[in-house]
Amino acid sequence: MQIEKRIALLEKIYRVYEAFCANFSSACRKGCALCCTANVTMTTLEGAMIHNHWLAEGGGAPVGALQAASRRPRFQPRITTNHLAALCVRPQAGDPELSEEAADPRVGPCPLLVGNLCSIYAVRPFGCRAMVSRSDCAGHGAADMPDEVLAANTLVLQFIEAIDEGGLTGNLADVLLHLARMERSDAYECKERQSYADGLAANQPIPCLMVPPEQRERVAPLMHAIRRILTTP
Ligand code: SF4
Repeated sequence: MQIEKRIALLEKIYRVYEAFCANFSSACRKGCALCCTANVTMTTLEGAMIHNHWLAEGGGAPVGALQAASRRPRFQPRITTNHLAALCVRPQAGDPELSEEAADPRVGPCPLLVGNLCSIYAVRPFGCRAMVSRSDCAGHGAADMPDEVLAANTLVLQFIEAIDEGGLTGNLADVLLHLARMERSDAYECKERQSYADGLAANQPIPCLMVPPEQRERVAPLMHAIRRILTTP
């Protein structure tokens, strides 16, 4: 599937997720950047969307800031969401230990944060959109998310990874630098030929949807909406 078509699907999924979250009250507000840390992860598809945004703005990737971030501690996942789902269904010898996948919340800010505002807000990756809190995170040090939003987040992550078939997942700085290292015209299309040298993990198809039984009914409308998006020509 062409990159333009994949990005169009991604944008539609963002819209239906926003509609789903509109049912929940949120304490999130402009200028609050507590969740904007260097631990954000995303797919190469989301990275391609951000690169397109920079190109449309007449600029390019802030390579200096991304390189600086890539020299600092940050969460670098070795297991994608769908890989995790596959491990839950059928553990394989040699798979990374799940206990090794832990993000240190004390890492510094996201390299795309400028004066407590996101410099790419309109095209921010799903990992950022998924941070929805019912109460001010400053009060308790973590996002206070309803269980159905947590379930919806996992669902959406699984579909985005599946749309980015042949792509990669990793830390925001690593993904954006990975794409920036290649020729702009084919940055996304060439990603399949890259190795794991950039600290990225290969995307996988959906082995099963990881929705807790008690949340299935609540997230069903979102799941059906995404499936309609993916099956509509
Ligand atoms: S991409 Fe934007 S919203 Fe996401 S963590 Fe960075 S600054 Fe925050």
